[in-house]
Amino acid sequence: MKSVLITGANRGIGWEVAKKLSAADCFVYLACRDGGAGKQAAETLRKEGRTNVSHVVLDVTDQQSVERAAQVVADRGAGLDVLINNAGILGRHPENEPIPVEEIERVFETNYFGVIRVTRAFLPLLRKSTAPRIVNVTSELGSLTLQSDPEWVYGRFKSEAYPPSKAALNMYTVVLAAELAGEPFKVNTVSPGYTATAFNNYRGTKSPSDAADVIIRYATLGPDGPTGGFFADQGGVPW
Ligand code: NAP
Repeated sequence: MKSVLITGANRGIGWEVAKKLSAADCFVYLACRDGGAGKQAAETLRKEGRTNVSHVVLDVTDQQSVERAAQVVADRGAGLDVLINNAGILGRHPENEPIPVEEIERVFETNYFGVIRVTRAFLPLLRKSTAPRIVNVTSELGSLTLQSDPEWVYGRFKSEAYPPSKAALNMYTVVLAAELAGEPFKVNTVSPGYTATAFNNYRGTKSPSDAADVIIRYATLGPDGPTGGFFADQGGVPW
């Protein structure tokens, strides 16, 4: 049975991925910063008959929390096959005034530094897998090419916080894929698309279930699948 760890798995897209992969006979670690929410999410799945789930407390902004979570997984002795770096925040944007630098730092701390922190902690466990997969959940808002196109439908969503944090995450994906080339890893950055979750007050046009499907596609790539790429449900996304 493949094991999968999903950050931010208690709600939104991460929760849908957890539901689907636990139904697909994977062992799923729901990694959540709020232990109570994580426990409740795991119990909900168990009530649906999924015994192959466990919750682990993990705040991507807290090094000790990340290390403790990696130790919990290590203590089960089986390594890890798939890491899905899903946890992310949009940040607060005050009206008619610049976004404070501290808020930009908070967004980067979660969306960029958090992913590096989690990935480094879990790499030794992923290296025990014969087919390790890493999916960094990004956004097309982090595409320099799309954001430079004045005709792009989402081009009005510009901010100094969220889109640059996802652009940095995309570059990290390229760097990480190069670092892991020569090992059986597949590392990709995947946009779920504009999805109706609390993240955007449920204004997104896609369902969390459809968003989960695109992430799962890249979390379960076969040996001939791509690595170091930027994808969405329509295929490749320009950097
Ligand atoms: P969401 O419903 O707001 O869920 C975000 C999840 O991330 C929650 O479980 C949240 O936990 C968790 N999280 C936030 N900060 C964390 C931290 N420091 N440590 C651990 N977990 C943390 O958002 P979503 O729509 O599912 O978004 C999931 C991912 O998709 C994000 O990376 C987002 O950038 C990306 N994305 C979303 C859309 C969209 O339209 N929704 C589009 C493109 C990309 P709490 O419950 O404790 O807050």
